[in-house]
Amino acid sequence: MLTLLYSKTRLLGRGRTLLLDQYKRICLKMSRSSLSGKRLRVLVDMDGVLADFEGGFLKKYRAKYPDEPFITLEDRRGFWVSTQYGELRSDLCEKAISIWQSKDFFIELPPLPGGVEAVKEMAEMDNTDVFICTSPIKHYKHCPFEKYAWVEKHFGHDFLEQVILTRDKTLITGDILIDDKPDILGVEAKPTWEHVLFTACHNKHCSMSPSQRRLLSWSDDWRAILDSKRQ
Ligand SMILES: [Mg+2]
Repeated sequence: MLTLLYSKTRLLGRGRTLLLDQYKRICLKMSRSSLSGKRLRVLVDMDGVLADFEGGFLKKYRAKYPDEPFITLEDRRGFWVSTQYGELRSDLCEKAISIWQSKDFFIELPPLPGGVEAVKEMAEMDNTDVFICTSPIKHYKHCPFEKYAWVEKHFGHDFLEQVILTRDKTLITGDILIDDKPDILGVEAKPTWEHVLFTACHNKHCSMSPSQRRLLSWSDDWRAILDSKRQ
């Protein structure tokens, strides 16, 4: 494959050497993963794990509806923001939804402390593949585009290779899924990954089964969790 690429590049001329470097990098990665033993595959959720969905939501909700009641992050309960706002007053459910359906909501989410740095470090670790595994909302006008743009903004263009957009994470194979949603369900009853619950304002009061692990924040020992799966 590399020979073919080299001769192709000779035909294309010098200006395409950057393209060749990119191909070489991908080929090297492919051969490394097939020749070496088991590589660890880490799936990292985006909203509530890398991007501050809850903080970003509250800020924009209060700016758009300054006279309406709101729920502080301290009082957030349950995964679905819209459900809790609907319980506060039925019409607030739609108002909450309008916030994350708006243009620039996802791209402007601030990164959660340490998340981008941790994922960049994981990506550099030996025998480790890291993917950002995120579920776009069904109102697709802005969200999928902005999720890619967010990754490009914080990780660089090459990292777009590591993005998985799916509404069903049980279909994706991996060793670990770091995610703030307490119940991750889909068509696959037994996903390959261990779900490590990333602590967020809405899940910190949730009781968990004794076997389930948490990552309290990106200051917590995520390296030890990865190491525990390498045996
Ligand atoms: Mg999430």
